Amino acid sequence: MKDILVKGTIEGVRVYALSTTNLVEKLNRIHKCSPLAIAALGRTVTGALLLAATMKEQECITVQIKGDGPLGTIVAEAQGNFVRGYVQHPEVMLPPKNGKLDVGGGVGQGQILVTRYLAQGEPFTGMCELVNGEIATDLTQYLYQSEQTPASVALGVLVGKDCTVQEAGGYFVQAMPDAKEEVLAQLENNVLTLPYVSELLQAGYTPEDMIKKIGAGLEVNIKESNYLGVKCRCSREKVLHTLAALQDKDLQELSQDAVTEVHCQFCNKSYKFTNTELQVLRDKKST
Ligand SMILES: [Zn+2]
Repeated sequence: MKDILVKGTIEGVRVYALSTTNLVEKLNRIHKCSPLAIAALGRTVTGALLLAATMKEQECITVQIKGDGPLGTIVAEAQGNFVRGYVQHPEVMLPPKNGKLDVGGGVGQGQILVTRYLAQGEPFTGMCELVNGEIATDLTQYLYQSEQTPASVALGVLVGKDCTVQEAGGYFVQAMPDAKEEVLAQLENNVLTLPYVSELLQAGYTPEDMIKKIGAGLEVNIKESNYLGVKCRCSREKVLHTLAALQDKDLQELSQDAVTEVHCQFCNKSYKFTNTELQVLRDKKST
């Protein structure tokens, strides 16, 4: 099954659901993550894709989980149907808690920061304290506290014994201002009795099935669906552009080495520049 995000509405309530198994496994391989690290990163990128789905296609969103736990900072950046992300310490593993990966323990206490890069106007960053470091609850709290949006976010990543991602996905429920009280009550009840996202995916539920399950007993409208993927926006040209913006003394220092290597944290790619190339940049700046 391909990674897909499905948008639906249930009687004045926006419901999005997605499966991200392939893209989370791709990130798992790029960053050589421990099961704990990919569970945390997988939930974060899945959450970022859900938030990006509420924005315009060319707009971009960054979710940063800045906890004091051993995993360090987790960053996800989503634009349209594509995401990239990394976790500062992908090798970290902790003993399980209640038979589950201890994502909250790996993340620790700290803040969640969300930056929206809108098509018009300045980027907007909001912040809120982490609730438990389990990511979904933190995102729900962030939306409520920082953006005054009552919503419910659920995220799940299931990692197999062979350390590969078996299932990943999530859903997002957001009441619109004209939603009726009894619809919200029914939805709340449905969501409360719903199994974990990873269990639903494991049982073969597609994102569309999840939306129908969330809206059981109500009128469900499936609007559209989109394929998802991992894509990094870095390139040799962009890195060169960044180097060109450095101060001359820094460029001079770098050009003392025969080769300067610049590493992209998001995709682990390395770009190499010779001291001759850096000298060209310096010459361009001085003219
Ligand atoms: Zn990159």
